[in-house]
Amino acid sequence: MHAAAEPAPSPIRRVVIAGGGTAGWMAAAALSRTLGKVIDVTLVESDEIGTIGVGEATIPTLMTFHRLLGIGEQEFMAQTQATIKLGINFESWRDVGQDYFHSFGLTGTDHWTAGFQHFWMRGRERGLASAYDDYCLELKAALDGRFAHLPKRKLNYAYHLDATLYARYLRRFSEANGARRIEGKIADVATDPASGCITALQLENGTRVEGDFFIDCTGFRALLIEKTLGVGFEDWSHWLFNDRAFAVPTATVRDAVPYTRSIAGPAGWQWRIPLQHRVGNGIVYSSRYMDDDQARDTLLSSIDGAPLREPFAVRFRPGQRLRYWEKNCVALGLSASFIEPLESTTIHLIQRGIIHLMQTFPRTLSRPDIDQYNMRMADELQHARDFVILHFNVTDRQDTPYWRDCSAMPIPDSLRHRIELFRETGRVFHVPTELFAENSWIQVMMGQGIYPREYHRSADLMGDAELKGFLDGIRQDVDRTLRQLPPHMEYVRSYAPAAGA
Ligand SMILES: Cc1cc2nc3c(=O)[nH]c(=O)nc-3n(C[C@H](O)[C@H](O)[C@H](O)COP(=O)(O)OP(=O)(O)OC[C@H]3O[C@@H](n4cnc5c(N)ncnc54)[C@H](O)[C@@H]3O)c2cc1C
Repeated sequence: MHAAAEPAPSPIRRVVIAGGGTAGWMAAAALSRTLGKVIDVTLVESDEIGTIGVGEATIPTLMTFHRLLGIGEQEFMAQTQATIKLGINFESWRDVGQDYFHSFGLTGTDHWTAGFQHFWMRGRERGLASAYDDYCLELKAALDGRFAHLPKRKLNYAYHLDATLYARYLRRFSEANGARRIEGKIADVATDPASGCITALQLENGTRVEGDFFIDCTGFRALLIEKTLGVGFEDWSHWLFNDRAFAVPTATVRDAVPYTRSIAGPAGWQWRIPLQHRVGNGIVYSSRYMDDDQARDTLLSSIDGAPLREPFAVRFRPGQRLRYWEKNCVALGLSASFIEPLESTTIHLIQRGIIHLMQTFPRTLSRPDIDQYNMRMADELQHARDFVILHFNVTDRQDTPYWRDCSAMPIPDSLRHRIELFRETGRVFHVPTELFAENSWIQVMMGQGIYPREYHRSADLMGDAELKGFLDGIRQDVDRTLRQLPPHMEYVRSYAPAAGA
């Protein structure tokens, strides 16, 4: 039995969010929209400090968040210069010059006993199947640069968005739902000496913002959860070597493709995220293997359009808070955890944190609630972390010390089990609540070079003719649907042209 937590001084009514980046405004939007009638929501942010300025690729779960809040897609896309993201093209990850695609769609059709990959493997063995990619509509549409909302066949997709505009959009949304914004720099955080709970934010300009419950969205500064409450950090840099990035936006030189490009380099990787009005570019690297000048030069020598500003540097440490919720404070966003930018997990994890918080939103503090929240978040983090480590560890690249060390590093047992299970049996270990679905694991495992030794016996039940008919039917359906899709940007321009465009 756990002891009851120290009671908050009063039932929770005043919620104070420290920080107005993506995390802060997503939290303000959700709280004000759903609980705004019974709680006060105040957000404190500092224009002088600003936000991190990166974080522009999302995953499909953002749509769920918007649906819960009643955010309309066309308006949101127009306000944030958003484009469609059907997945990520991984270039030179398995080996230099070898690409694969992680799409958000489903590949083929599963049988209840066995996933599509088993039937495809048998088909490939019998010379009846073409490339695995041919059976996924989203993947083919992405590489063909096509997209539309079709009446009968809904594609799985996410967005590329301008993070600054997204925070502004959510600010307007939150304020319209009653949230209050206070501009100012937090100079001090007051706590109650008896309970240790946070009682107020003291701003440099003398304003004191009191609250019953606090959400730390101060980014890597972690002013509340770490600097005030002293919650430590579990470092994952032995699995995730990258710790620095440079980002630079560039002018658009061609129509945006509906996918993120992730291009592996000698000591990390580069991203390219096309929006309606510009392209986000960046390099993520390990300072143990590449120096800053080299990284900056590599980035600038590989961009397409003219830079719209000087490249800006970001430093980070991969890992997670030992506890996400401590006393009367929950950490969201970069103050809570950061895996690394690959696979765009942070905005999703912010959203998961918000949804769990909304579902357990306390009347007064309760230790079981806090424990439950911490367990759920740690669990989700671990799965997402393993998925990201997979990309670095399972590779044939041996061309630089970085890749040799990535492929030789010891990996978490949880990931080792997944890899062995897939390699031996073609089956995927999957937890229902985890972010990445089976199809994601399969695409990345095969893309990085793991081919299963066996396929399920169910695949033997079909004779060659039946199996060929089954596989061809799926591929033809993909091709037929593909032909109905217009070019991605043609669709975006008519569906959700950027405000002022
Ligand atoms: C290189 C890189 C690339 C990334 N790419 C992606 C991606 O593609 N997709 C994705 O999902 N995520 C990505 N992320 C993560 C992404 O940055 C976060 O999802 C997102 O920006 C959330 O940040 P945040 O709100 O936690 O912090 P921030 O944006 O840093 O916001 C912190 C807020 O706290 C305020 N603040 C701090 N100190 C004080 C103070 N003393 N007083 C008052 N206010 C204060 C700041 O002013 C700011 O408003 C990336 C991260 C990195 C490092």
